[in-house]
Amino acid sequence: MQQILAIDDSPDIHQLLSVRLGGLNVELRHALTGESGYEQACEEPPDLILLDVMMPDASGFEICRRLKARSKTASIPVIFLTGETDVEQKVLGFDVGAVDYIQKPFDTAELTARVRSALRTKRYFDMLAHRAMLDGLTGLWNRSQFDQRLYEEIASARRYDRPLSLVMMDIDRFKNLNDTYGHPFGDQVLQSVGELLQGWKRSTDLPCRYGGEEFGIILRETDMEGAERTAERIRGALEELEIRHRSNIVSVTASFGVSSMSLCRNPCELDHNWLIASADSALYRAKEAGRNCVSTGIVE
Ligand code: GH3
Ligand code: MG
Ligand code: MG
Repeated sequence: MQQILAIDDSPDIHQLLSVRLGGLNVELRHALTGESGYEQACEEPPDLILLDVMMPDASGFEICRRLKARSKTASIPVIFLTGETDVEQKVLGFDVGAVDYIQKPFDTAELTARVRSALRTKRYFDMLAHRAMLDGLTGLWNRSQFDQRLYEEIASARRYDRPLSLVMMDIDRFKNLNDTYGHPFGDQVLQSVGELLQGWKRSTDLPCRYGGEEFGIILRETDMEGAERTAERIRGALEELEIRHRSNIVSVTASFGVSSMSLCRNPCELDHNWLIASADSALYRAKEAGRNCVSTGIVE
């Protein structure tokens, strides 16, 4: 259910909004000061903010400016609730980032229509933002999301002194599959591999499509040994996977390179690039060793 946060110093306005918006399928939250509203929005971002312009502790314009300056709250649409009829004030509201304003006293039909419209736009925005994180073919996280998550997970693992590992996986002789059965079949194989990774993952695993026929799996709370075991299990499951092409059953294998933060001898070097390079060099060794196997290691 979408959430609306109303920030207004007048309890009567909150009461009125509860009644007038009662017919919409939304959860209405309340804040009676600008500051507490700002804090609520930062802690648990709602889908829409109805913001009073004049409040004793803070101006609505200032609160809106601060919300728009933070990445966590910047995309929340803000509608000003204003008693002002002055055009300059309304223009200022738009200039600090509001999507709309509603004139007090409220006309119920207009209030609900403007709120519905803002919530609809927010739904589209969320859907597009979510899609932008996903790989279109497999539905896994895409490369840019992989990079971002890896940065975040490394920072978090360091801060809390927790293990973190990375598995890079590359399908063997994939070019041959494309050449033999055609590109659409190659796509189907990538989708099946994506489904297999989704099906295997624990809540702490983050499988991503790194690019082409290469996948990266970020393993949170997992040391080298655990990561190696996970890679071996995925390798075995993929080997067993039977993918149909007309009357043929085609089997697919992949090679795996595993790396873990604990392998890094020099903590100053440990970053996103180190972890990827180290898993990549292990993957290269797995290919050299004959493919369809798991290799572990560090950058020489
Ligand atoms: P190796 O065992 O050494 O990994 O050999 P390989 O053939 O798997 O590796 P190579 O890098 O030579 O070829 C990868 C191929 O993957 C080439 C490219 O056309 C194909 N490919 C990349 N992305 C896609 C895709 O989205 N769909 C399909 N069908 N093929 C793709
Ligand atoms: Mg390959
Ligand atoms: Mg490759």
